[in-house]
Amino acid sequence: MAKSQDPGAGLTAFHGARHAHTRCVGRALTRAEALCRRRGARLTYMRRRVLELIWDSHKAVKAYDLLDRLSESEKSVRPPTVYRALEFLMAHGLVHRVDSLNAFVGCSGSDEQHNAQFLICQECGEVSEMDGAAIGKAVARQAAEAGFNLRRQTVELHGECPACATR
Ligand SMILES: [Zn+2]
Ligand SMILES: [Zn+2]
Ligand SMILES: [Zn+2]
Repeated sequence: MAKSQDPGAGLTAFHGARHAHTRCVGRALTRAEALCRRRGARLTYMRRRVLELIWDSHKAVKAYDLLDRLSESEKSVRPPTVYRALEFLMAHGLVHRVDSLNAFVGCSGSDEQHNAQFLICQECGEVSEMDGAAIGKAVARQAAEAGFNLRRQTVELHGECPACATR
């Protein structure tokens, strides 16, 4: 996906309750299919179902909620099945784990390996992903100056989204 050059391009806006979410879901599934085809990975029925359920909203979803939802439609879904699907989706960057919530969100960023910063609304639960390259670089530089061998960085920011902040 081409990124425009304006300074705000790295910022993903919050969606709020009223928007055409079916388009978000459609875009995510189309992207997942294309990415898996390109990498020769199999987007199995279960992996696709889990991805679909995660994209049910822009809120982070816990693994046991996914299990509950899956149990409504599939017979005898076991936790390892859900975890294996999540591992696959995370390995391909289609889903991120939000550590502070112990939950998962669909990736709305690029196909490349990226450092994500998450803006987490404490009121409505919406999570917005930022791909602020400058933030990632600054963190990496500071860590290197401290002699720290940085392996992974996830920034999780808690507050209120625009809709909740003005309510
Ligand atoms: Zn949406
Ligand atoms: Zn992402
Ligand atoms: Zn909110």
